[in-house]
Amino acid sequence: MNTTWQAELAESFTRLSDLLDFLELDEIHRPEFQAVTERFSFRVTPSYARRMSKRNPRDPLLLQVLPDARELIDHPNYASDPVGDLDAVTAPGVLQKYRGRVLLITTGACAIHCRYCFRRNFPYDANMISKRQEQDALDAIRADRSIREVILSGGDPLVLSDERLARLIEQIGAIPHIRRLRIHTRLPIVLPSRVTAELIAALTETRLKSVVVIHANHANEFDRDVSEALAAFQKARICLLNQTVLLKGVNDDAEILIRLSETLFENGVIPYYLHLLDKARGTQHFDLTTDKALAIYQAMRETLPGYLLPKLVREEAGRPYKTPVG
Ligand SMILES: *Cc1c(COP(=O)(O)O)cnc(C)c1O
Ligand code: SF4
Repeated sequence: MNTTWQAELAESFTRLSDLLDFLELDEIHRPEFQAVTERFSFRVTPSYARRMSKRNPRDPLLLQVLPDARELIDHPNYASDPVGDLDAVTAPGVLQKYRGRVLLITTGACAIHCRYCFRRNFPYDANMISKRQEQDALDAIRADRSIREVILSGGDPLVLSDERLARLIEQIGAIPHIRRLRIHTRLPIVLPSRVTAELIAALTETRLKSVVVIHANHANEFDRDVSEALAAFQKARICLLNQTVLLKGVNDDAEILIRLSETLFENGVIPYYLHLLDKARGTQHFDLTTDKALAIYQAMRETLPGYLLPKLVREEAGRPYKTPVG
């Protein structure tokens, strides 16, 4: 049976022309569009689209999902596995780069396709835990007593049903050396109806301490539904953090990022990381020079209280933690 969020997800825009009609933007003729979306398909939820301003081709939410011919340029510095994910696979669907923490690739699916995504070229079919492989992944975690925290990632782990998530969380909770459960998700932002009572129950009924890391890039991504979804986590005393990707044309401006930090805090979310773009193939048009990033960060530091200043980091393959910048 479909719940509200699943029905809403099924109504997502999967054709750019439909979104441009909805936004009253004359469709710009794009002969290359087919080739661009063959590499990485187009997808956006109706809820997120409603937060875009009409008739504005530079809308910062639109730019995050708008296919662009520059995605087809193969630049030598932008690779298909920019952060060494494939070298970090320890069992099917299990990635370990950092001490004490493992990341589970639970699904390749997302509710929205962000054009700058670092995993846009990731071979999910071979590297995610299918239901069948779930036990192997859990066995690998059970066998390594140095692991303290399991991170559910993807894709977006909240695309999974409440039943499947509850079962997975229960099994992780049954491993004595695991203390924390983390969920990396963009769904509270792009599909706030996903934050169901059942999901909250699964996260509070476990003995594990739960941390939910959302992904917001701009204050315009918040509306009343998003605030209500975040309030549900807060009410359940689930720790809420945010990560942002610094993106040219979207949020490469100190004032925009200051406003984002303040909006996050008003919603009970602490800014965690501000990521420099991972150099994934087809994303170079979103990239900034490190000098520009540092200038933006300095202006944020001069304005925000320390607890609203995210850590500026870059991910480098083979390093034991995300590399602080500035
Ligand atoms: C980013 C990441 C983590 C989490 O790192 P934190 O610094 O703990 O947030 C864990 N595992 C992998 C593979 C990652 O890429
Ligand atoms: S939600 Fe995250 S994983 Fe999914 S496309 Fe966007 S950046 Fe990539």
